[in-house]
Amino acid sequence: MSTDQPSRFSVNGATMGTRWSAVFFASRVNQAIIAADLQAAVDTVDATMSTWQPQSALMQFNRANLGQWVVMPASLCAVIALSLQIGTASGGAFDIGVGAAVEAWGFGATRTAPDAVSIRQISAVTAAGAIEVDLANARLRRNSEVQLDLSGIAKGFGVDRLAETLLAHGIADFIVSIDGEMRLSGSKPDGSGWLVGLERPDRTQRALARTLEVSDLAIATSGDYRHWRDHNGTLVSHTIDPRTGAPLQSELCAVTVTAEHCAVADAWATALLVMGAEDGLAMAARLGLDALFTLRRGDGFTEIGAGAFAAASVMQQQGVHIK
Ligand code: ADP
Ligand code: MG
Repeated sequence: MSTDQPSRFSVNGATMGTRWSAVFFASRVNQAIIAADLQAAVDTVDATMSTWQPQSALMQFNRANLGQWVVMPASLCAVIALSLQIGTASGGAFDIGVGAAVEAWGFGATRTAPDAVSIRQISAVTAAGAIEVDLANARLRRNSEVQLDLSGIAKGFGVDRLAETLLAHGIADFIVSIDGEMRLSGSKPDGSGWLVGLERPDRTQRALARTLEVSDLAIATSGDYRHWRDHNGTLVSHTIDPRTGAPLQSELCAVTVTAEHCAVADAWATALLVMGAEDGLAMAARLGLDALFTLRRGDGFTEIGAGAFAAASVMQQQGVHIK
């Protein structure tokens, strides 16, 4: 074995109420330094975009005076601009103005139970028009009392930062993830791609639905089967339908999207989930998105795919190559 034979490294840590992880192949690297850089990268995203940290840049902006431009971290401005863009492209299905609704329904940082009074005050929500982004000067302006929530895109953005951190260290063969949102680059030393397991969208157990061999791709899943609560006998999920301001009610239980960047995949997974299978599929086909829709039907699940997943859903089996 030559000394330059790449070794396998596996590092992880806490972030965003869950864990980040990185598996990579490299030779002659300092694992401790890389792990610290990865941790710092996600810590920065969390300190900038979290609704769970009252002092995050996002939460400071949520308290900013109306009509006043506020200089903010460039990354926050960029993620908000991307969010608004995907919001428009998705016909309003992805909407970072859901902050107050998320809080009222008990999925936010401060409340433990849904608050009936707050719920009644929430109607349709939208960030579009309520805020302005000036990317050139890295500043933001609030024009109305909207509460922004970036939880539908921040994990994906954090995954992109993990990827960029490894690339900056000259490491190109890796899989990085935060809570199931992931990005894969390069290959294993034997040249094979990375195998990704997609979970069955099952509320009661964790089981594998299928595996995909992928490379140089980000993959994100949104669903109703991990974050939900019982509200007067009905299971409600943490995804808000911006048209009503209430949790989404849908037979669509999971959407997986692949894209070059994980922030984009993350936001579209949420957007297509909100749109539902029919409109979501049409939108995915129109925009050329690769998306897998899983519907709850009786005791089982039905899958429908768009783009690279179209063939996969027909095959309904493991080991599908999607890139
Ligand atoms: P997960 O965190 O399970 O990966 P998502 O990426 O779909 O799920 O993000 C869900 C979070 O995004 C919610 O907890 C909420 O904070 C926020 N959110 C809910 N509904 C929307 C929506 N329609 N558009 C944008 N963000 C949303
Ligand atoms: Mg998302």
